[in-house]
Amino acid sequence: MTTIQTVTGPIDSRELGRTLMHEHLAVGYPGWEAATNEAFDRPAATRVCIEHVESLQALGYSSMIDPCPNDLGRDIELMVDVAEATGFNIICATGLYKEHEGGAAHWQFRARYEDVSAAMADLFIGELTDGVGGTGVRPGIIKVGTGLGDLTTHETAVFAAAARAAGETGTPITTHTEDGTLGDRQQEVLTTAGVPAHRIVIGHSCGSTETDYHLRIARGGSYLGFDRFGIPTVSDDDRAASLARLVEHGAGDRIVVSHDSVWCWKGNPWPVALRERIAKQFIPTRFDTEIIPKLQDSGVSEEAIARLTVHNPRRYFEGEALASFGASR
Ligand SMILES: [Zn+2]
Repeated sequence: MTTIQTVTGPIDSRELGRTLMHEHLAVGYPGWEAATNEAFDRPAATRVCIEHVESLQALGYSSMIDPCPNDLGRDIELMVDVAEATGFNIICATGLYKEHEGGAAHWQFRARYEDVSAAMADLFIGELTDGVGGTGVRPGIIKVGTGLGDLTTHETAVFAAAARAAGETGTPITTHTEDGTLGDRQQEVLTTAGVPAHRIVIGHSCGSTETDYHLRIARGGSYLGFDRFGIPTVSDDDRAASLARLVEHGAGDRIVVSHDSVWCWKGNPWPVALRERIAKQFIPTRFDTEIIPKLQDSGVSEEAIARLTVHNPRRYFEGEALASFGASR
């Protein structure tokens, strides 16, 4: 067994149960605070989040990761309120987002005068060890991300800090990739910095439908996040088909699933006309209602499906080494 930090305290890894590995109670793009005409309605947000959690509990889920990094509107208080109201295990993150949509300005200013990666590592380690701010809430995972092209200077500093924090605290890492690119590069950067491959989820791997790309990551020994079901950059049919192909290749022991659904927005970045459509897109029950039937039609077994939501999240947190690729089915 392994102890996992949730926002309401530590649990035994055996208590995880069915787990969604990447959903968000709330997101706010850096700068959202400036939109003072779009106030965050906390009681309404709490109600919306409780409803979503209850819909997941009705399907037998007991845990989720909200891997919101520190600079993307992360709301520890909201997570605690929702976890306390529902008894759901919510695991929060420490970390920083990709440069393009994260809060890079603060760190780029500091980088003029100090080793900014060391400052980031101190932040991550401090949160993991003592809790976030004065809340006493300890994150259970580290979040990093990249945009397109290659890691920027800022992202390189974030990845180095995350690797150091993972090494010192034994905390696993989850990532954001853009349009299904750079997952293999993220794996290389983190493992070169000493992070065991099986302690990494390469997030949003389902942004690509290329099996060769997926297999490179699988062979490298990390988990692949098929964690954006419902987001139309790739169709769910294509995502499900890619997932089924990977299971056929023997990689079913290293895939985790989710929707990257965002339940509430800070500073409401969506035009009024789009808000209803977006709320319908971001439904965290979709994997059960729409994707599992597709996987079953493709011949994926019940046992293989259970691995995605139960066994793989647990083994990832427990840090059990993955079998060399292709050895287990
Ligand atoms: Zn996300």
